[in-house]
Amino acid sequence: MSALNVGVIGCAGRMGRALLTAINEAQDSHLSGGTDVAKSGWLGRDIGEILGCNPLGLIIGDDPETLFATSDAVVDFTAPQAVADHAQLAAKSGKAWILGTTGTDAGQDAAIVKAATQTAVVRAANMSVGVNLLVGLVRSAAAALNDEFDAEILEFHHKHKVDAPSGTALALGGAIATARDQEHKQVSAFGRHGNTGKRRLGEIGYAVMRGGNVVGDHTVVFATEDERIELTHRAGSRGIFARGALRAAHWAHNKPPGLYGMDDVLGLKG
Ligand code: NAD
Repeated sequence: MSALNVGVIGCAGRMGRALLTAINEAQDSHLSGGTDVAKSGWLGRDIGEILGCNPLGLIIGDDPETLFATSDAVVDFTAPQAVADHAQLAAKSGKAWILGTTGTDAGQDAAIVKAATQTAVVRAANMSVGVNLLVGLVRSAAAALNDEFDAEILEFHHKHKVDAPSGTALALGGAIATARDQEHKQVSAFGRHGNTGKRRLGEIGYAVMRGGNVVGDHTVVFATEDERIELTHRAGSRGIFARGALRAAHWAHNKPPGLYGMDDVLGLKG
């Protein structure tokens, strides 16, 4: 079987570099090229320079249209303002578009949905296979356990993170609430301090730790009398998002047009 030709938009960024490494290491994938913007300082240079290896003969350009044309799938971890243009190019080319970029507004979201009527788009705010599997496991556990099991979520991130709880922790809480037919906002307990009173039945509690360079740890605990179930994921590097995106690229190649998530890629739906 021939290798999948994967292009990387935003290849000089933190995630772009992780993607280049993941593609370079994968036997079943071939790097078709990379683009970025002038202010990255990387235009006209060989991608091998980013990877710290010999020249690959792939020069970093700023023409995503050509990248779509010469790739089977294109992975995009860039910036929200770039998304609408890339959506149009993905639709025009009919190639799989793997979108990891977050923070899009309603107009950009509409452009993504429109592109997905013409090509396969995989979009996920967290492309890690492990995190998506954890969400699926937590959903199943919450559906199986009755509300005698108290659900608590603990997350730990590096000291530079400015928001809390993490988006992933909230997604885990959302999965529990949905499985239990609850309104997530109404049952969430964010931080406890002082005389809090007893725990409310059905509450989903959040606890947050910050320190060092921890990439991201998440634990969901289901606790009842005399027993406790703990489901944990620990992220070690950005490579997990890159490898997940690459897996999505292989899955989406030759799939019919549609807007897919990592649930589809990992077969976790239904
Ligand atoms: P970054 O700033 O390090 O990299 C972004 C790169 O995209 C830069 O090199 C920038 O020059 C380039 N870029 C911007 N506009 C472009 C355009 N129009 N065309 C080509 N290149 C362009 O950021 P990052 O940490 O790599 O994150 C990128 C995005 O991915 C963010 O939205 C972030 O939240 C998201 N992200 C998603 C996941 C996930 O699993 N889905 C994981 C990590 C980061």
